[in-house]
Amino acid sequence: MTDAAKLPLMLTELRMPTIGRLWQELGARADKEGWGAARFLAALCEHELAERATRRIARHLAESGLPPGKTIQTFDFAVAPSIRKAHITALATGNAWIETGANILIFGPSGTGKTHVAAAIGAGLIDHGYRVLFTRTTDLVQKLQAARRDLVLPATLAKLDKFDCIILDDLGYARKDQAETAVLFELIAERYERNSLVVTCNQPFSEWDHVFPDPAVTVAAIDRLVHHATILEINTESYRRRSAAENAEAPRKRHAKATA
Ligand code: ADP
Ligand code: MG
Repeated sequence: MTDAAKLPLMLTELRMPTIGRLWQELGARADKEGWGAARFLAALCEHELAERATRRIARHLAESGLPPGKTIQTFDFAVAPSIRKAHITALATGNAWIETGANILIFGPSGTGKTHVAAAIGAGLIDHGYRVLFTRTTDLVQKLQAARRDLVLPATLAKLDKFDCIILDDLGYARKDQAETAVLFELIAERYERNSLVVTCNQPFSEWDHVFPDPAVTVAAIDRLVHHATILEINTESYRRRSAAENAEAPRKRHAKATA
């Protein structure tokens, strides 16, 4: 004989907390509205799955290290005419480029919104069920170097495979020494044509020889990064400088109005 009193225990053991929370309420509705057993069961499963998806996305967001608030909605595309909202929105859904392990490279001077755009793409990807890691390049390089010292670099790189997309922010921020370059390029080679990278960088490729000491390795890395890549260039005025200038301007404007 099936014992309904055991349901809470069984659902806990099966790890179905949503069904555990909803079965009585939905059951009463099913009885009242004359749902068949199949419809009742399907409704419960739908709720369980929907809540699992929500929890998964929340977990992925928490593990991502993405800066909060940097989304497509908060980006003002009017001040960055070299990129289009529709294009960034499409990239943020993942699909073809992420399924094939392609890359996105974002170039532009400091303060033009590269990090914001990269993070916005990352946040969109998470909403679409992908796993994303956002990291300053120097932070990840340090972690990889520590892993190499501890002789666990291959395992550490393999662990990063769980991320469909790694965002390397500020790739060219500081000049890298030979050892730093080596682990960074190992990461690039490891992910090549398998898992995606989104890279932001202040310097165009032509200046990468100032960042990386070995020209041959630099060329090999650029080749792999670019082979399947979307390149975005943001060549506007610094958004930081612009808003600072606008803030400085505002009191004067107010003053001008008052004395007019
Ligand atoms: P970069 O990485 O190119 O140096 P950031 O993405 O860090 O620039 O942008 C600097 C600041 O200006 C951030 O707070 C960012 O959110 C904001 N910002 C830059 N461009 C825009 C934009 N077009 N719309 C809204 N905020 C922007
Ligand atoms: Mg940045």
